[in-house]
Parts: sequence; C-alpha cells; structure tokens
Amino acid sequence: MVRTKAFRAQVLLRLGSRGAASATWNSRTQLPSFLTFAPVRRAAAALGLRIEHWLYADADETDLEACQANWRPAVRQLAHEPSSVPSVAASVAAFNRHVLPMERAHRTRGKYLTHRRTVLTWAVWKGVLPQLLPMSDDLLRAFLWDALAFETSLAVLRQAINAILAWHERLHLAPPLSGKRSHKRLLHSLSRFQGVPRRHIFPIYAGAVKRLLAEAGRPPPAHPACPGLRGGCRVCTETLHARRDCLAGATATLICSRCAEMADLQVCDLWLRFDEQAGYERFKGGAAVNVKVRKNDQFRQGHQPRLGVPRRPEYDVVKLLQRFMRDAGLAVHPACAKRTHPEKRCSLCPPLFPRSSRCSRALVSDRPPTSGDLSGMIVAGLHRAGYDTALFSGISARRGGLSTAIEAGVPEHILWMQSGHAQDVAARRYVQLGSPALLYNTWAAFRL
Ligand SMILES: [Zn+2]
Ligand SMILES: [Zn+2]
Repeated sequence: MVRTKAFRAQVLLRLGSRGAASATWNSRTQLPSFLTFAPVRRAAAALGLRIEHWLYADADETDLEACQANWRPAVRQLAHEPSSVPSVAASVAAFNRHVLPMERAHRTRGKYLTHRRTVLTWAVWKGVLPQLLPMSDDLLRAFLWDALAFETSLAVLRQAINAILAWHERLHLAPPLSGKRSHKRLLHSLSRFQGVPRRHIFPIYAGAVKRLLAEAGRPPPAHPACPGLRGGCRVCTETLHARRDCLAGATATLICSRCAEMADLQVCDLWLRFDEQAGYERFKGGAAVNVKVRKNDQFRQGHQPRLGVPRRPEYDVVKLLQRFMRDAGLAVHPACAKRTHPEKRCSLCPPLFPRSSRCSRALVSDRPPTSGDLSGMIVAGLHRAGYDTALFSGISARRGGLSTAIEAGVPEHILWMQSGHAQDVAARRYVQLGSPALLYNTWAAFRL
C-alpha cells in the first residue's frame, strides 16, 4: 500500500499539474495502473511523441461477437452503402475494427488491455515512454523487476508478458524475447522461486454423479398447506434450488462441459428423443444436449453430447431435467426455432439452469446466468450431496467427465465430438459417424 501510494505520487509528479488531473487509477490491479489512456496521451503530447497507434482499446465485444451467430443481419448493418465504392483505407479500417480483434477471445482482450495500460503507466513512472516500443529485452526485464516489487504473482507476470508480445504483433513491431528459447528461459527463472503448490481440485467422478442424481430426485419434505412446488413456499423453493444445483453438477459432468457452456444452455437445447427420431430405437429415452459453441470449436460447428437411459431409473438425468423444468415453470416456447438454428441463442426460451434472484431467491428466467453462477450451482450441488466443497470447483465437472470417459476407453476423437477439448486435429472436422452409438460411450462410462 505504501509502495502503491508512493508510485502513484511519483507518476503524478511526472505528469505535471495539468496531466495529473486526467489520471484515474484502476483499483483492481496489483500494479498501479491508469484506468484510461488519457494521462498517457497527455504525457506523450508533452514529450512530442506520436504514439496514438499504441493506444488501441479492443476489449469490447465486437458487433460480430455480440450477434450470437446471427451474423448476416449484423454484417448487413456494418457493411458500406451499396451506392458507394469505399476506399481501400476505409475497408481496412472497418476490417480492423470489426474482425481483427476476434483473433483473441474478448475476455483475453480485456485482460491484455489492462496489462498494456499497466506497462504504459510504468513507462511514465520510469520516464521511458519514448523508448517503450518496440520493447527491448532489457526494458522488459526492468519492467518485470519493478513489477515484482509489488509482489506480483507468476500468473500475472506471465499474462503481462503475453500481452506485451501480442501488442508488438498487432503493431508489427519486433517483439522482445525473440532469441532462441528466451521466452521459456525467462518463465523458468520466474517460476523457480514462485512455485507454489496449487489448490487441489477434485474431479466429479461417477460415484459423485450418482449421489447428485439421487439428491436431485429426492422429494421435498412433507409440509402441510403448500400450493405445490411452484407456489413459492420456502421449503419448495429450497427443493427447486437443490434440484437445480444437483442437476447442474451431474449434467455438466456427463457432457464434460465448461461452466460458461452450461450457462449458455437454454431449455430448448435439451433435444429429447434426438436419435430416436432419426430411427435409432435403442437410444429411446435419451437426449442430445446442444452446445452451441465451445472454446476450441473455432469453426462454430457446435457439439451434441448425448445423455442415455440408465439401468436404474433413479439415475435418469433426462427425466429429472424434464421434471425440474416442469416444476420450475421453464418451458420451450411454442414458436422456438432452435432445431432449425441450433447455433443461435433463442430469444424466446428461458435458461436451463436459471440463476436465483438476489433478493427473492426466485429463479430468474429472462436472463442467462453467468459462468460464475453455474460454478456456484455445481459446488452447491456437491455440498447438498454431502461432499466437502473446499475440494471442488466448477471445473471439477469437466475434469470428472473427461477422466471418466478416458478411463473407460472412449477414443479421443469421439470424446472430442462431445467435449470439444483442446488439441485441435484438423481431421476431426471430417469425422461423421454412421451411428451415434459411440457418442453414448461417454455416458456409458458412468455406468448409471
Ligand atoms: Zn411447499
Ligand atoms: Zn428456444
């Protein structure tokens, strides 16, 4: 705190009285950092530097990202007037604004923007703004050393380095650390003294999935004069929450899902009788889950992991999900067009796992939950099933799903069709199965 205060004061001194007025601080960074580019602009102007092109802000979602794959109308909005011929410069500018930022995910862009501002703040403090870019290896080391004084962790330093490299790439400048293995060696030297044992996070294995499902099927305790599950009585609300949490944990594990993908699921993404309708009688009672876009699914093909029918009826996740939807009043809208446009977010249907309202504990069905909400549900579900939640987090579901499937020998390229995990192999795009039987192997691995 003392150090941060002193640092800020020294920066303000550098900026002079007029520049100092433009300085606002980001209160959420470990290293002192301006909240905007304004003070950097001031400092550059005072030095006669032309660095405006360094100061791009690309953290907002582009219109093409925000359109949720409804890209045709979005592009129509952005395209030039048909009656005019735009200059090359105008087309390039539009491309750079609307398409170029998407080479990185929008959350990554936000983090990198913060790191760029931190580095610029440091450069003002250090008095090296004119020499900052392209950054020499020495300047990078100086930055890292000064950052360490603020007890910055390896994870943050590593991200700062990546942000600096991406910055150079974007500006077509020669990046630091271009020497052979110098990036790797630098990270080695930084991790040597910072290696801390990570918090161990357990996967949700088949046993826990069974307990979650059993818990999700438990009826509410008998209580008289109750209008029923949707009546909003305290006991019933509690039961609905318990079912949602347990089902979120079990479903996420069975389909090897990330929390963000779960948060994106709507009731119309549960495709009942999917394979049955295609003529596969043996999968009667099962369902496909439509995962619109997964992190490594760069081509937006989507994934449809399957939920099968168990031998023991109490583990029937498809039935339990249907019952939860019914009790919670979450129904597929009659005009829903999800099956014809599986890649789009549906504007008519509620989320499959709605978050709870902060004040009334009612389920919020007109807005999607966040991935943080989902992580909370999964952990809460495990708690309800009797587990020590200190050992689990939202990621436990995906880990449990993948490890259970791998242990049961599900081939990796089939697993990928369900989970979209990393290690991209181009050939996977062309895998077309004659039967969905292999897709049910992940489900079968849980032996429910
Ligand atoms: Zn009740
Ligand atoms: Zn829908």
